Amino acid sequence: MVLCNFDELLSAPSTCYDNIRNLDEAGVGCDGVTCSRICDRNEKYAVASDYKNAASAKGVCLDKCKTILAICKRIENKISSASEVFYPFDVEYNNSINHPLGTSSAFSICTVEPGTAYDVARVLTIIRETQVPFGIKGGGHSFNPGFSSTTGILIAMSRFRQITYHPTSQTVELGAGLLWGDVYQALDPLGVTVVGGRISSVGVAGLILGGGYSWKSNQYGLSIDNAIEYEVSGAYPHVPSSTPPLPMIIQFSWALPSDDNVFIDGLKSATKAIRQAAFANGQDVGGSKEILYPNNALEDTPLEQMYGKNLPKLRRIRQEWDPNNIMCLCGGFKF
Ligand SMILES: Cc1cc2nc3c(=O)[nH]c(=O)nc-3n(C[C@H](O)[C@H](O)[C@H](O)COP(=O)(O)OP(=O)(O)OC[C@H]3O[C@@H](n4cnc5c(N)ncnc54)[C@H](O)[C@@H]3O)c2cc1C
Repeated sequence: MVLCNFDELLSAPSTCYDNIRNLDEAGVGCDGVTCSRICDRNEKYAVASDYKNAASAKGVCLDKCKTILAICKRIENKISSASEVFYPFDVEYNNSINHPLGTSSAFSICTVEPGTAYDVARVLTIIRETQVPFGIKGGGHSFNPGFSSTTGILIAMSRFRQITYHPTSQTVELGAGLLWGDVYQALDPLGVTVVGGRISSVGVAGLILGGGYSWKSNQYGLSIDNAIEYEVSGAYPHVPSSTPPLPMIIQFSWALPSDDNVFIDGLKSATKAIRQAAFANGQDVGGSKEILYPNNALEDTPLEQMYGKNLPKLRRIRQEWDPNNIMCLCGGFKF
């Protein structure tokens, strides 16, 4: 898959400002040029799976784009001054859609950077009402296009950057737009840390939602095990989008061992189904062809199957350098 040339897409042509509906434009001015360029690009490179079927009919894409642009404008009119909507010719748009792995990015019709939980709720309410495709981006470290990118409306959480340490309860409040590096940098001078990501460029929100392996997970569990409370914004069907909806606080608990078993059983049956599908597809994934990534292996997988003849050597290293198995050295948490 080839991504578009950002410069070409983002440089605003003079037709943006001529107030005329030019050939192939969906409307007048930049809106029209936006759609025309996005549809051209999506057609050419099939960047956006949403539009794949429409690729042969650019008109369908243009109509869709025009509809979504109108929803972007509606959002723009509803959010507070703490938040902003950006379009492909805005400099900030580029930051919003950009991912560390370029292939995970997609050209959204517009991006929204909410600055308050109320505005997140307002945006989600409009999205729910209009059923427009949308995506949410935290640190943007997803590998796959469509996970935190969209050809519809992208909500970029980058304005949520609060880090508030509460010494009495030994807890910290973290914004959903932070990267783990931001968090460690702020907490380090205070002599405290959190059970967070191992690489500083990864986002706080996405990592916690996926569980979160930390260097300290052997000692303290996953990041998600250490999360006490989330602030959740939602779309409220009973509240018209003109009324400011209230964010709500939920308590999170994953306390019972039986909760773990539900997760492990689900993982096992999913693994089995994937293997069966691969076999049915004619793929040879058994025996020596089996590839195991230790981080994702099930807990009862024989260690020899993961580490082969390196196992004794790895055990020696771990014993010497990390006798308490705290740092998960070389996957030591499995030894
Ligand atoms: C270099 C690298 C190192 C990594 N290291 C670790 C590691 O040490 N430990 C570990 O456990 N994992 C690690 N990962 C995996 C990483 O945790 C996941 O890829 C995670 O999803 C990234 O989160 P993000 O916020 O950066 O990504 P994003 O792509 O922004 O988000 C990931 C998912 O979460 C959703 N999301 C984000 N914010 C919100 C929100 N506020 N509300 C609702 N949904 C939201 C997005 O829509 C997307 O589906 C690593 C990945 C990379 C690329």
